[in-house]
Amino acid sequence: MSLYVPGLSRRTLLATAAGSVLWPAAARALGVASTIRIHDHTSHTRLVVELSENIEFSIFSLADPYRIVADLPELDWTMEGSAQAAPTGVVKAVRYGLFQPGRARIVVDLVDPAGLKNAFVLPATGETPHRFVMDLEKTSREKFLASAGPQHRVGALAATAGKPVPAKAVVEPPARDAKKLIVIDPGHGGVDPGAIGLSGIYEKTLTLAAAKQLKGRLEATGRYRVKLTRERDISLELAERREVARTAAADLFISLHADSMGNKTVRGLSVYTLSEKASDREAEELAEQENSADSIIGVDLSHESQEVRHILVDLAQRESMNLATKLADRLIGELKREATLLRNGHRFARFAVLKSPDVPSVLIEMGYLSNREDEKALKTEAYRGKLMAAVVRGVDTHFGGVQSARKG
Ligand code: ZN
Repeated sequence: MSLYVPGLSRRTLLATAAGSVLWPAAARALGVASTIRIHDHTSHTRLVVELSENIEFSIFSLADPYRIVADLPELDWTMEGSAQAAPTGVVKAVRYGLFQPGRARIVVDLVDPAGLKNAFVLPATGETPHRFVMDLEKTSREKFLASAGPQHRVGALAATAGKPVPAKAVVEPPARDAKKLIVIDPGHGGVDPGAIGLSGIYEKTLTLAAAKQLKGRLEATGRYRVKLTRERDISLELAERREVARTAAADLFISLHADSMGNKTVRGLSVYTLSEKASDREAEELAEQENSADSIIGVDLSHESQEVRHILVDLAQRESMNLATKLADRLIGELKREATLLRNGHRFARFAVLKSPDVPSVLIEMGYLSNREDEKALKTEAYRGKLMAAVVRGVDTHFGGVQSARKG
C-alpha cells in the first residue's frame, strides 16, 4: 500500500487486490499480475508489472489530467503491500483493476506530460516471471496533446496489436411482465475504488455488497424485477450505468455510494437527485467528485462536457425529475428511522449518473467512510440490511402512491 502519495486526493490511491474478493470463483482471468514496480532513471521512468504469462497490450494517453492508460487481458491482481513501489519520476499514482469483462486496465497518473518511449514484454527467465514494461519520458504539453486520445494505440506485443473491446454495457430487452423494473447501480468499481475508509475498506466493495442486499430484498417482495449495473469488481462509465437503466426501460434507477470528506466528524446518510443548481456547496463538491469517475477509470471526456448543460436544461421539464424528487423524499422518510441523516437529507446537484431523461434516478450516499462510526456500521451486513429494508419500504410507498394517484 506504499503507493499513497501525501497531498493527493483520496482517489489517486491505488486499488489493491482487496477488491478481487468479490470476483466469481470461476474467474476468467488469463493470468496473474503480482507486482508493480516504478523506477526513476535519469532519462525516463520505468514501470514494471510482473506477470504469470506473456500478454498482448495496447496503450494510449489522455490529457487533462495527464494519463497513460494500458489495456491488458483480464488478470488476477495479487499485489501485496510489500510488492509495490512508491510513485517516482513522472508517475504520480497508479491504479489498476478490471475494466470490462476480458480486459484489465492500468491507469498511470502523470506529474507532467510524458510520452511512451517504449513498451514491451520481457520473457520469463529462471526465477524471474514475464514482465510488462513501460518507459515514460517527459515531453511538452504540445507533443503530449498531439499524440493523446483514446484511439491512439501505440504499443503491442507478440506481433498482435491489442484490440479495443467495444465499450457497450450488457443489456437485456425490456421484459413485459407487470413487475416494476429497478436498476441498482453500485458506485465505482474496478480501476476506481471510490472512497477509501479509515480502516482501508473501499467504497466500491461496500456499494456492491449493499446493492446485492437490496436486490435480494426487492425481489423477495415479489413485486419487482431487479438488475444491477455491475455484479462484480469492474469499471463502468457513468453513461454505461445510465444506459443499463434506459435500455431496459427501468422504472427506477438507484445509485449507491458511501463517500468521504476532509472533516472526519461529519456523518450521516443523504439522498441526492439531479438539478442544474446545487442545493449547497457540499452537494456540488460531491457531484464533481462523482462525475470525475470517468476520468479516474481512463475514459476520454473531451467531447462530452459540451452536451451536459443542454441535457440538463431539457431534463428540468420532465416528469422523471418530479418522480425522482418524490421518491427521494419517501426514501428519506424511511431511512431516517434507521440511520443518522445528514442535515438537509435530500440534496441535489449535477450528478452525471442521474441524467437519464426517462428514468427517475436517485443517488443514495449511505454514509461517510471518513467517519469512524459510519464506516464501522456500513461494514456490517446487519446495518446495510436495515438501510436496504428502509429503501424497499420507500420504493413500495413510491409505487403505491403513484398507482393510487393514477387510479384516482
Ligand atoms: Zn461514490
